[in-house]
Amino acid sequence: MCHHSGADSWQRGGMRIPRGAWMAASIVLASCGTSSVELGQADADSATTVAPAPTASPTTSTTSTTEPASSTTSTSTTSSTTSSTTSTSSTTTVAVSGLVLDDEGVPVNGQTDGVLITPTGWITPVLGTTSTGWRVWTPCGNEAELQDGRLIEGADIVLDPGHGGSAEPGAVGPGGLREADLNLEVALRVRDRLVGAGYSVIMTRQTDVRLPIVTRGEIGQALDPIAFISIHHNAGTDSPSTEPGTEMWHQIESSDSKRLAGLLYEEALSALSGYDASWVSLEDAGAMSRPNREGTDYYGVLRRPGPVTSVLAEFAYVSNASEEQLLGQTEVQDALADAVLRAVDRFVETDDPGSGFTLDPIFRGYGPSGAGRTDDCTDPRLQ
Ligand SMILES: [Zn+2]
Repeated sequence: MCHHSGADSWQRGGMRIPRGAWMAASIVLASCGTSSVELGQADADSATTVAPAPTASPTTSTTSTTEPASSTTSTSTTSSTTSSTTSTSSTTTVAVSGLVLDDEGVPVNGQTDGVLITPTGWITPVLGTTSTGWRVWTPCGNEAELQDGRLIEGADIVLDPGHGGSAEPGAVGPGGLREADLNLEVALRVRDRLVGAGYSVIMTRQTDVRLPIVTRGEIGQALDPIAFISIHHNAGTDSPSTEPGTEMWHQIESSDSKRLAGLLYEEALSALSGYDASWVSLEDAGAMSRPNREGTDYYGVLRRPGPVTSVLAEFAYVSNASEEQLLGQTEVQDALADAVLRAVDRFVETDDPGSGFTLDPIFRGYGPSGAGRTDDCTDPRLQ
């Protein structure tokens, strides 16, 4: 079964690429709990380096040359008229390389089409082609030219395991379970189930690496999937609850995102409720949305994938010892993965509306808006 309208795009250059064979990296969002910091900025203050991904298909030893994408051109214009002279100094952000940046130097989402899986296993959205290969958007949001890789033009589902790398563990449970690791474990299980059911899947990351949110979002846009699902586990509350405090965040303007969030909520809540734990929750837990000051989506993993239907899943609280113990069990991780598969199937095959919608979410603040955390990011070797 293939749900992606662009399924034929898996054939390229005479090479048939088996669907589901490429699960690689992705984008994340990290908002855990009550933090007022935009997910896209959660670790903006930490100097981090994107760690190399394990080599999926080792080949060349060529060192990648990555051009700095940001170049600020300051233009000073003096214009004279007969009656007055005005001097105007304007600063315009221009990407000399061709990559369009916003006024904070962060690449604007929506510039790519398809992704190239590099010889070192990174997922790089494709900006264009060259006479010998491709121009790509690097993990840190720069531009690079690559000669080798596998082009993937579309996917049914993009999975985004939140956080990653030593600099961005996400929430850490009292027993030491790192959210980034748990997110990846669950996402890998979700991937296997989706692929088993016939969906093509790309992961924004499939190893323990950091990836800026802006790049996660771009991978989503580049692959134009049915849905982009960012997988997280929560932190930040200690209010006891009789049921799991599952939160599913959906895009404000998208009825599809809202429906998928309701279906994911229904299935995840049902799956977790089958286990005993001393649950914690916020009183408004459910399927809901959160605006930023501009009225668009607060969470970068919902805003940056743009037109792609996206949901940010916070399954349960890794910060709560009882739930951490539960979530560390493979049986429970499998149950969550089964729940996501059921939700996706229902989203695709039925008109079920989902449930658990929070009508009046607690005001969580606007926080800053903007950056996608490409600062302090060092690109890995791509080929
Ligand atoms: Zn998180």
